[in-house]
Amino acid sequence: MIKTDILIIGAGPTGLFTVFEAGLLKLKCHLIDALPQPGGQCSELYPKKPIYDIPGFPEILAGDLTGNLLEQGKQFEPGFTLGERAETIDKQEDGSFIVTTNKGTKHHAPIVAIAGGLGSFEPRKPKLENIEQYEDKGVNYFIKDPEVYRDKKVIIAGGGDSALDWAIFLADVASSVTLVHRRNEFRGALDSVEKVQELKLLNKINLITPAEVTALHGDDHITGITVSKDGEATTLDTDYFIPLFGLSPKLGPIGNWGLEIEKNAIKVNTVDYQTNIDGIFAIGDVNTYEGKLKLILCGFHEATLMCQSAYKILNPGKKFVLKYTTVSGVDGFDGTRK
Ligand code: FAD
Repeated sequence: MIKTDILIIGAGPTGLFTVFEAGLLKLKCHLIDALPQPGGQCSELYPKKPIYDIPGFPEILAGDLTGNLLEQGKQFEPGFTLGERAETIDKQEDGSFIVTTNKGTKHHAPIVAIAGGLGSFEPRKPKLENIEQYEDKGVNYFIKDPEVYRDKKVIIAGGGDSALDWAIFLADVASSVTLVHRRNEFRGALDSVEKVQELKLLNKINLITPAEVTALHGDDHITGITVSKDGEATTLDTDYFIPLFGLSPKLGPIGNWGLEIEKNAIKVNTVDYQTNIDGIFAIGDVNTYEGKLKLILCGFHEATLMCQSAYKILNPGKKFVLKYTTVSGVDGFDGTRK
C-alpha cells in the first residue's frame, strides 16, 4: 500500500504543480497517471508546440514546461505510479481514501486531488471508410514531433486552434501544407486566422474551404486524398494526412465515483475546488464551474488554493501564515511563509 498526504490522479501540468505547492506546506504527494510519462496533454499531444501564455515565459515548448515542472517539484520527492489508470476509490471509516489502479496497485491518502484533464485521450476521427488502415501510416491525429514532416507534403483538416497553429508552424517545415476546412470561417484565434490568410497569399499554405476530405488513397502508406469542394472532387498527393478535430472527452472510471458531473467534467466549488465528496478535490481541465477556462495557468491557480485547504484539513486548528516563498526561500521552508 502506497501512503501519502495528497494522492494526485493525473500527472499533467496541474498535477505536477500541485506537488510544488503542497511541498511548500510540507505535504507529501504521490501521482498516478495512465500514461507512461508525466506531462499530460503537454507531453502526449504537443510536446514540441510553443506555449505563449505561461506567466514569465514569453514562449516555452510544452515538453520543456513539463521538464521545468518536474524539476521544480523534485525537491519535494513526489512518488509516481505511471502507466496505470486509477480505477476505483473506497472511502474509509476515518474519511481517508484507498484508490486502486487497473493493475491492482493500492494507494492510501486522506486527500485526493483529481487532476485528470480530459481523461483518456480519444481523438475525434473523421468518418472515412478506411481511415484505420492508414493510422500511423501517414494518418496522424496528434503531432508529437514536427521534424517527422520536414520536406514532406502535409494535408491538415480542421478549423480550430490546433489545425491553424500547426498549419502555420509546418509552413516552414514541410515541403507543402494544405489546410482543408468544411467552412469558410474558422473557430480558432483571430490572430491565427489572419496569419493563415497571410501565408495563403505567400503561397506557403494551400487553403481549401469550404471543403471536405472524402477518401484516402495508398497501399502500405497514404499517398493521396480526395477533397470535395462545391460538388467537385479533386485528388491531391500527400505524404501525411492530419485530421485535427479535437478530442472527445472521456472521464473514464472517475465518472463512476459518485462525483457530481456536468458536461463530462467534475463540478467543484470555487473557494477551494472541492467536489461534492469531502476530501476529494478536482483541479485543472477536469473540473467545471461558472466561468471555467481550460488553461494551464488556471490549473496552477486552482492547485494553489486547493493545497491551502488540504493543509487545513490535515492540520486542524494549526495556524498557518501565508506570506511569500521569496522571503525565506524554498530550501528550509518550515511550513509558514514568513
Ligand atoms: P492534462 O494535461 O489533460 O493531464 C491529465 C492527466 O490525467 C493525463 O496525463 C491523463 O492520462 C491522466 N488521467 C486521466 N484520468 C486518469 C485516471 N483515471 N487514472 C490515471 N491517470 C488519469 N493551454 C494553455 O494554457 N496554453 C496553450 O497554449 C495551450 N495549447 C494547447 C494546444 C493543444 C494542441 C492542446 C490539445 C491543448 C492546449 N492547451 C493549452 C490546454 C492545456 O494543455 C490543458 O489546459 C492542460 O494540459 C490541462 O492540464 P491538466 O493537468 O489539468 O490535464
